[in-house]
Amino acid sequence: MTSLPLWFDPARVFIGGTWRAPLGGDTLAVVDPSTGAEIARIARGTQADIAAAVDAAEAALSGAWGAMTAAERGRILFRLGDLVLQNADALATLEAMDVGKPLRQAQNDVMALARYCEFYGGAADKLTGDTIPFQQGFTVYTLREPHGVTGHIVPWNYPMQIIGRSIGAALATGNACVLKPAEEACLTALAFADLAAQAGLPSGALNVVPGLGAEAGAALTAEPRVRHLSFTGSVATGKRVQVAAADNIVPVTLELGGKSPQLVFADADLDKALPFLVNAGIQNAGQTCSAGSRILVHRDIHDDLADRLSDAISALKIAPAMDNADVGPLVSARQKAIVDGFLAMATPDQILAQAPLPGGLPKGGNYIAPTLLGHLTPDHPLAQDEIFGPVQVLIPFDDEDDAIRIANGTRYGLVASVWSADGGRQMRLAKRLQAGQVFLNNYGAAGGVELPFGGVGHSGHGREKGFEALYAFTTLKTVAAHHG
Ligand code: NAD
Repeated sequence: MTSLPLWFDPARVFIGGTWRAPLGGDTLAVVDPSTGAEIARIARGTQADIAAAVDAAEAALSGAWGAMTAAERGRILFRLGDLVLQNADALATLEAMDVGKPLRQAQNDVMALARYCEFYGGAADKLTGDTIPFQQGFTVYTLREPHGVTGHIVPWNYPMQIIGRSIGAALATGNACVLKPAEEACLTALAFADLAAQAGLPSGALNVVPGLGAEAGAALTAEPRVRHLSFTGSVATGKRVQVAAADNIVPVTLELGGKSPQLVFADADLDKALPFLVNAGIQNAGQTCSAGSRILVHRDIHDDLADRLSDAISALKIAPAMDNADVGPLVSARQKAIVDGFLAMATPDQILAQAPLPGGLPKGGNYIAPTLLGHLTPDHPLAQDEIFGPVQVLIPFDDEDDAIRIANGTRYGLVASVWSADGGRQMRLAKRLQAGQVFLNNYGAAGGVELPFGGVGHSGHGREKGFEALYAFTTLKTVAAHHG
């Protein structure tokens, strides 16, 4: 059995460049989702730790970190990206054992984290203001300045990717960060903080306080000295975060859930589409905000696609994370209970296919059989609600208008894809789909660190990733000089 490759004590918080026990003295269990066994303890940070982290961040801004040039910040991010790559095996193992994702997926997440460090390292000194033509006798220009202390609340499904995109952009623009990782997934956040210190990031520029959402998370959102909040997680918590942000009048970026549609037309190349259609639903055991959980198919090819999808899903292999199969366990017993509850709503005729769970899976693991559902109307809760497990629904449509009506007919709008050989149709639908990202004859563009990402409707607002994120992590100052 693999042991956790820990080179730091995970039961500590990382504040002001040093590791220490949480002030409340309590710890939380780290449970391996593949087996149900406790494999470590993490700190249960509380309001007092968050306040200390904000103190440290403020000190960093008025100290060495605040004095650095953009090029120096970029250089540190490059070094951090290198360290992530040098520690790739350890980081991937930590993530796979902590959240249950197949090792291959954890390795992809490490590469994405390194790419975020590289991308934002390179972008740090490329963000510029404008000069604005104005009245005679004036010179007017804008400055892009950091908010100051930024708060980052991260979920458990893609910790490294979400930390990379949010902390990477915030550090590149000169903010000092307080990160509250999800209680189910703190190990790589802590490892990242240690690597950041090794890369030369000044004390206090990045502080990590693990803890419960209702304690450390709520304390971070309530802290008036935090001047920007970046939240990724559920709609219910996102609403609370937005209310807390309103109390302090701070901007907030919300990356919430989705029920993203994949539209398959009769002229689509089904051989090419099939692996994408399936992977978009089962990647990370379906615990992906941008999961392609609704497959909408033209009625003429419904039965053909249903057969192909059923064959592919029935052939999926499920195993513990470190065995590196197609699908690992869900992150927690709680998440498994949620997904089981959804599956219990399906009648037998609505279950088109289900991958068999192999015998011999560890009893305490949170395994769910990947499932394809059909024969349900677009307004059925199984076709409307985010399940966050390896469950997809197949829904027929009659024409483009019908496809758009169904695709846009949920409260979400995160991503969408169109599979069709007709270029005109691709362009029409890309405009009509309500989503933050639209993929034409692909899905997800392999993660696309460079591509702005975010939702509309209940999927949230604001954009992270790509150059766009740098605008969100800065505030614009206009300077008007009158010189006659
Ligand atoms: P969650 O909202 O329960 O938790 C997310 C984070 O918020 C955790 O760090 C948690 O500790 C913290 N939190 C919980 N209560 C809080 C509170 N009262 N105040 C402040 N922070 C609090 O979500 P989850 O179950 O961990 O994640 C699953 C959800 O996240 C899904 O709905 C999924 O779609 C969404 N998600 C979205 C994206 C995206 O980029 N759009 C990415 C990943 C996950």
